[in-house]
Amino acid sequence: MLEKRIKSTIRDIPNFPKEGIIFKDITPILKDTVLCEDITIELKNRFLEQPIHAVVGIESRGFLFGFKLATLLNVPFVMVRKPGKLPYKKIAQSYDLEYGSATVEMQLDEIKKGANVLIHDDLLATGGTAEAAAKLIHQQEGNIIGFCFLIELGFLKGREKLNNYSPKIVSLVNY
Ligand code: AMP
Repeated sequence: MLEKRIKSTIRDIPNFPKEGIIFKDITPILKDTVLCEDITIELKNRFLEQPIHAVVGIESRGFLFGFKLATLLNVPFVMVRKPGKLPYKKIAQSYDLEYGSATVEMQLDEIKKGANVLIHDDLLATGGTAEAAAKLIHQQEGNIIGFCFLIELGFLKGREKLNNYSPKIVSLVNY
């Protein structure tokens, strides 16, 4: 079963990047090419109902499977990045963190008006990052058809934040 294979491959790093956080390290997954293929196919299979016109991946681990998924779907891949990384004209969206705030950016002209967009990141925690990505897509009048993650930390209830943008929220493993 895919869920079991993913769970047994993820490496837990306690107290990283700070005390009290259990970091879900996906680097061991990247060494297993068959597992990477199976994950990408599973993500694609969960979104067969509607056409997808673009996949948006969130820096930086969201680029790994986001890009792979976009190429499998044969659609453009769009990067959401931390400030100051994107060279072209761009828009920005800030969001609250536990302490302080963060900002993400996306280049203009990447999302066409009315395009069906799938948002991807490696992990859903509080949902703040994915919500900021969703706002960037709405700013460009894109249509969010769903979110997908490898991992969901269900106890943080990030899903509740994202439901306002699309009820279709897929995660392959939940903690
Ligand atoms: P959030 O905005 O709270 O949903 O946080 C999601 C972002 O933070 C994703 O880009 C994740 O890669 C990263 N992240 C948050 N918590 C963890 C964790 N426990 N392990 C690994 N990555 C995490």
